[in-house]
Amino acid sequence: MLSNKQIEEWIKSVIVKRFKQRAEGDYLGEYSVRHHPSIHIQQIFHQLYRPTSPIEIYSDKMPRYTPQPDDEDGLIPIDEVLGSYDSDKRMVVIYIKNVEKYAKNPFQTDADKLKYIVELHEYAHALVHLGVYNKEDEKLLRGYNPGHETDWEPYLSSRNSTNTTLDLSVHEFLAQLISWKILTEPELHHLQNLFLKLMKKQPKQYRMSKVILERVENDVDDKFRHILNWAQNHEDMSSIPTDVNQREAIESLLFNIIP
Ligand SMILES: [Zn+2]
Repeated sequence: MLSNKQIEEWIKSVIVKRFKQRAEGDYLGEYSVRHHPSIHIQQIFHQLYRPTSPIEIYSDKMPRYTPQPDDEDGLIPIDEVLGSYDSDKRMVVIYIKNVEKYAKNPFQTDADKLKYIVELHEYAHALVHLGVYNKEDEKLLRGYNPGHETDWEPYLSSRNSTNTTLDLSVHEFLAQLISWKILTEPELHHLQNLFLKLMKKQPKQYRMSKVILERVENDVDDKFRHILNWAQNHEDMSSIPTDVNQREAIESLLFNIIP
């Protein structure tokens, strides 16, 4: 029979061992279970997916990319061959066979790591579509007629229409910005290189300049909230100039870069 003291010692030793395992190397297996990208995105941006998180499925399909006339050779567009976010079904799809294939060549990395970055990107699209700032969540839940219950239909129809009016370039820019912001978390620094390699294989609307990448590392939280609020609700439109490209306007607002 073990004494309480012995049990306490044993528990301590197990905990210490676990912490040591986590601290060593860039082991993603356990990390990805504790911090699925969708949870991480909600935590960092203080937002909730409403009314529910997207459904996520893995697919064995291996879609191929059909290059457009102006494209460079060898592009691997994230949303064409590695995954997708379907806003009608509110569904994230991961093309797991393609993720495994491209992880091997050209990226020479673990499929889990590439998958993490693809999931981040797709859940970032979902955040723009469905994210609600946690301080506004209560108001949304109570926004029904007295005597009734929360009706998500008006919310979803407003979000769907906002989502479709954003430029494609804004969608991709925001998804990449959100992903990069998550990868500035110290535990995920080891995925930054892979993100940058993947970014080089993207069409130009997915690419961010060095200046932007560096500035995301600094504190841009309040500005991020402002941009997300605009992208999600088109509120406060006055602050986004309409006579320039939406993406340029966002870049200049977030990073004080004059287009
Ligand atoms: Zn995308």
